[in-house]
Amino acid sequence: MKCSKCGSPVTRDKGFEIGGSWFCAGCFVAKAQEARHFSKDDVARLKRAHLEETAGPIPRTFLLQILESGYDRISRGEEPFDQILQDMTNEIERAAGLFISREILQVIEACQHVFLEQEEEIRQRMRKLSGL
Ligand SMILES: [Zn+2]
Repeated sequence: MKCSKCGSPVTRDKGFEIGGSWFCAGCFVAKAQEARHFSKDDVARLKRAHLEETAGPIPRTFLLQILESGYDRISRGEEPFDQILQDMTNEIERAAGLFISREILQVIEACQHVFLEQEEEIRQRMRKLSGL
């Protein structure tokens, strides 16, 4: 067996396999180093993907607005803390209700689309059957 990169002899117990190709220790480490270096764009893309995957039903910018305005009111110190907290909680609950309803509506619309397609298919079959 030979290393896929440098061609030096490799044994099963000393070599490393990646996707069916065998590498000597040196070339394996070099390959692993290559894979470790992500470009800034790669890192930004991964971060965006991570944020999208872990996002809740309320968009982050919306949540941040609620928190920032609440923080502003608290730092002015003109209103009771409990009242501000209550208002913020209400706003978050309203936002969650709104955005979850919107998602449910999208699911219903998607189901309706599938239903209409199937209904049309059944109608076409019935027309064919009645023509037999
Ligand atoms: Zn090698």
